[in-house]
Amino acid sequence: MPEIPKTYEPGKIEKKWYSFWLEQGYFTPEIDPEKKPFVIIMPPPNVTGELHLGHALTTTLEDIMARWHRMRGEPTLWLPGTDHAGIATQVVVEQELAKQGLGKNDTSREKFLEVAWDWVNRSREAINQQHQMLGASCDWTRERFTLDQGPSRAVRTAFVKLYDRGLIYRGERMINWCPRCQTALSDLEVEHRDMAGHLYYIRYPLARNDGFVTVATTRPETFFGDTAVAVNPEDKRYKNLVTEEVVLPIINKKIPIITDNAVDSSFGTGALKITPAHDPTDFEIAQRHNLPLVNIMNPDATMNENAGPYKNWERFACREKVIAELRDKGLLEKIEPYFHSVGHCSRCLTMIEPKVSLQWFVNTQPLAKAAIETVKKGSITIIPERFNKVYFDWMENIRDWCISRQLWWGQRIPVWYCQGCGKLIVSVEEPLTCDYCDSKRIVQDRDVLDTWFSSALWTHSTLGWPEDTDDLRYFYPSSVMETGYDIIFFWVARMVMMGLENMGEVPFRTIYLHGLVRDENGEKMSKLRGNVINPTEAIKEYGIDALRFALTVDNPPGTDVNLSEGKLESGRNFVNKLWNASRFIFQAVDEAFPQGQALKDVIASEAKQTQGPLPMEDRWINSRLNRLIDNVNKLIDEFQFGEAEHQIYDFFWREFCDWYIEIAKLRLRERSTPSPLPFLASTLEISLRLLHPFMPFITEELWQSLLRAKRGNLMLCSLQNDSEKMPSSIMIAPYPVADDKAIDSEAEWVMDSIIEAIRSIRNARAKYKVEPSRWVEAQIYADDLLPHITSQAKIIETLGHARPLAILPRDKRRIGQEALAMVLKESEVVLPLGSMIDLAKEKQNLAQEIEITQTRVEESEARLGDSVFLTKAPEHVVEKERQRLKMLRDKLKRLDQELSQLAYPSMGED
Ligand SMILES: [Zn+2]
Ligand SMILES: [Zn+2]
Repeated sequence: MPEIPKTYEPGKIEKKWYSFWLEQGYFTPEIDPEKKPFVIIMPPPNVTGELHLGHALTTTLEDIMARWHRMRGEPTLWLPGTDHAGIATQVVVEQELAKQGLGKNDTSREKFLEVAWDWVNRSREAINQQHQMLGASCDWTRERFTLDQGPSRAVRTAFVKLYDRGLIYRGERMINWCPRCQTALSDLEVEHRDMAGHLYYIRYPLARNDGFVTVATTRPETFFGDTAVAVNPEDKRYKNLVTEEVVLPIINKKIPIITDNAVDSSFGTGALKITPAHDPTDFEIAQRHNLPLVNIMNPDATMNENAGPYKNWERFACREKVIAELRDKGLLEKIEPYFHSVGHCSRCLTMIEPKVSLQWFVNTQPLAKAAIETVKKGSITIIPERFNKVYFDWMENIRDWCISRQLWWGQRIPVWYCQGCGKLIVSVEEPLTCDYCDSKRIVQDRDVLDTWFSSALWTHSTLGWPEDTDDLRYFYPSSVMETGYDIIFFWVARMVMMGLENMGEVPFRTIYLHGLVRDENGEKMSKLRGNVINPTEAIKEYGIDALRFALTVDNPPGTDVNLSEGKLESGRNFVNKLWNASRFIFQAVDEAFPQGQALKDVIASEAKQTQGPLPMEDRWINSRLNRLIDNVNKLIDEFQFGEAEHQIYDFFWREFCDWYIEIAKLRLRERSTPSPLPFLASTLEISLRLLHPFMPFITEELWQSLLRAKRGNLMLCSLQNDSEKMPSSIMIAPYPVADDKAIDSEAEWVMDSIIEAIRSIRNARAKYKVEPSRWVEAQIYADDLLPHITSQAKIIETLGHARPLAILPRDKRRIGQEALAMVLKESEVVLPLGSMIDLAKEKQNLAQEIEITQTRVEESEARLGDSVFLTKAPEHVVEKERQRLKMLRDKLKRLDQELSQLAYPSMGED
């Protein structure tokens, strides 16, 4: 039997076991119509992403669920994949091309896509490897990419279906525009930053009379696009002007003054310039009043011909020049500093221009209605529940969804324009001729679809939709959608809409939302703050299991994780505890049965010989273990993974290692019968299986050690199926199920009391700083518990290092001794002080200290009673003295208490 190494080196075994699982095909489920499958479709990480702690958290949580369900015998599919990440990838590839000296205009669409695919394929591979590094037990044979043929066909099919239902349309609407990327952006792709800007007060002369109306704006260059000035109808300042017109400076264009309730009279001058083509609020006001839209910018945010003399000026240069010109003309009233939030492109950080643009939109309201109903009906459960409100709020206020992007990277919009008759052809397959006039001159829409359009179909496109596949029939809908709470709108809500629309059924039964990973103080991790923990480095230093533990233990659903080096260390300590406890048990087995006898037989014959009841501690650990199993299964079922993990940790460390193993050591030393080996081995083995979903690598390594040779016989004692054939991996072994018959309240009552007694002795020893080798005298008084304590005397004596130990009924309580008495739940422990410390010396020390403190108290009292001191000394000095007196008095009280404890006479009467 080879020794197992002294220390655990995670790096050495992690790769080995992952490859083993993969080779054995354990991650690929078999379709079994008799069984209900457990399914998670992995939220596809962006193909541009580098592994960060957020991925590590998602992966760990999903893996916990997948492994638990798999061990319970459910066909488990965890389907992995990656997202093409439209604009993010486009920007990265543009940067790659720029390195080769190629600008966007120097590249053809084909060349661009070639470079993009090459880059994406490499990146995908790296991401998959990162998932494998974390232990993800997903089915790589079913891996998908959003741009794969299947999912792409799903995208075109969904587009055509929605178009045919009248839910997709092309129109001019307000969108976020990035002048650098030159595309529309979703709200998610816009980053809002607080900025110091200016509020410019500009005078618009009245057309018919002298005088002017002053408007305030942060973007003065947009006035070329103004089509009205609006005031609130209640605003008395403008009562007489509402039928008037004003003249826009520089371009001398007349525009009307109108009234609208949306105008906030308290902002600026109360007169609002209306630029409908470049401001979302203005756009809405313009719709109500039928005002024309005047676009004043080119796609790159230079001014167009509508800006008159400023045509082709860059927007910010234009701003400066316009302000100078207005000042010269006496039309600039004043400039005030102004802080406001300004949208930036999240990919290239260019300032966004809101603008009206001709784009494709989904009319989402009818889809949202069904999505609201389904959650209200309870067909989908959101965990934690408080996110229901977030979901409903968003769905009820949903706006039409702009789905076209002016990019090359992504799925082309399946719309063709006929040059012959001018009609649109919307089709899943590429048409060769026009459906209406047979013309061959048809051109596909240049734009691609928003990345989130394909992500919205992810739950069914990955399983083969629109084809009617076996996978789709068996695995749809999935069981759980696990993702961060920050993308509930952008993604989760849209998956619900599209799942219902395409499949007529919810896409998943449960939405589980996790929090963000923050640093130990709850601060966001950022390179700037220097508090980023790099997962790859953390894995190198602590191992994957420790990282998984640190990320999930004690963390309730939807709550942010505060990760610290300390937590990683406790993860590693736990792994080491498992390792060391296992080593001890393995060695004990090897020593007890050097001949390699079948331990199962030995135990069986031993059991026949002894026939007596099981030792109390065996009954106890078995009872505690089965309670744990019951709790853990319930907790995982309720998505309380952090609490389940915490309870396994507590049991293994605080009950099994700290107490059971310590007691077992005594029995092994004395070779008492029955042997504790069966319970040592089976408790270990079951604990490993309980822990496997959380810490897959250490548990597999140890389980395999148990499996080898004669140790394997031990496992048969604990595996509930009595088969001679052991599963070849812990990940396909059955997850423990609690045995109600093992619950033993009497054993728990007795052992809890005995542990409490030993602990009280140990605490007292620590308090009085008793040397470890010194035996202390102890008396334990009890009533109902008396016979049990008596039978466990040896354990108390050894583990408490207490001798002589007297165990007596309460009415035999002796008096007249200076002793420490501790009243416990079921007993009283009395420790004569003389056996712990040199009483006379201790008393003398205390008396001396009391005397010194008493003198100081008197000095301080005298000072504070002195009127000269009180009037002459500064207030803070007097205050300080008062504080000092209080502290001294407290100290005196404490010392008196300690002295009286030393002289504490035993209670009760003989
Ligand atoms: Zn951009
Ligand atoms: Zn045609």
